[in-house]
Amino acid sequence: MASNVARYKTDVWSDWCPGCGDFGIVAAMQKAFAELDLDPAQTVVVSGIGCSSKTPHFIHANGVHTLHGRAIPFATGIKLANPRLTVVVNGGDGDLLGIGAGHFVAVGRRNVDITVILHNNQVYGLTKGQASPTLRRWEQVKSLPRPNIQDAVNPIALAIASGYTFVARGYALWVDHLKELIKAAIRHKGTALIDVLQPCVTYNNLYTADFYKGRLYKLEEEPGWDPIVHEPSIDEIDEKVARAWEKALEWGQRIPVGVFYVNPHVETYEERIAKLNPLYQEKPIALQEIEENGTPAISREDFIKLFNKYIVEVDRR
Ligand code: SF4
Repeated sequence: MASNVARYKTDVWSDWCPGCGDFGIVAAMQKAFAELDLDPAQTVVVSGIGCSSKTPHFIHANGVHTLHGRAIPFATGIKLANPRLTVVVNGGDGDLLGIGAGHFVAVGRRNVDITVILHNNQVYGLTKGQASPTLRRWEQVKSLPRPNIQDAVNPIALAIASGYTFVARGYALWVDHLKELIKAAIRHKGTALIDVLQPCVTYNNLYTADFYKGRLYKLEEEPGWDPIVHEPSIDEIDEKVARAWEKALEWGQRIPVGVFYVNPHVETYEERIAKLNPLYQEKPIALQEIEENGTPAISREDFIKLFNKYIVEVDRR
């Protein structure tokens, strides 16, 4: 297996601080990709801006390092253009839940089949440790002159409320546990979030490895814990959402990691598009020939058929 993991490594030099939790997340991704035997040519890692957004440079696959907060729309476009690709987003809590918060919500409403890995360290590490959207009110990390006076966003609760159909939390230093969450998220058909608690050893002196030690516990080891919606009934969905929500709010002496909620019954955005346009699955945009021997590859009849799907008749009386 070791040589298989090596397939996903690059020789790009990393400028992450020694001891940063991001190293554990990259290691977990490489192990997960190896165990899923993903083809690097058919896999895309997409990021925005921040320490964590350097991740695509360290994974041997297609990588797209985009704009601040825009990793999710880039990933959505890539997936919709070629639904056969495996698409993974990496971003920090500042990137995905600050400037990118609208996109974080929108992708849940669509249930696009992508995996979002949130590097959650409660600070903007790249710009010297300002409070990010997951730092709680009255908390003061060492780079802040005063305590934070804003309330925190809860990524697990927000993802469930937005419609994500796979919601989990991992810990950057529990690499093998995180690897299993990443594998399950990629296998899931629909939008998946993994909120990863990631110590920032340089700027966050509150949520350190010592803080997490002894507080983290695994949901799967709780008696009777079952996060999966087995029957798509309102009653079962309500019950599973309520239990996940209760666990999402737990923080302090006990902090849960593991899978919070899975609903495999919601159709993906790709399936919704295919219902409107039957040509979509057969010939997604990125797999269409533009031309053959100088003539357009799509016939005039097919083009009109495709185009007619989008014509709106307006009654001007
Ligand atoms: Fe990691 Fe924090 Fe250093 Fe950024 S500043 S590389 S998040 S330890």
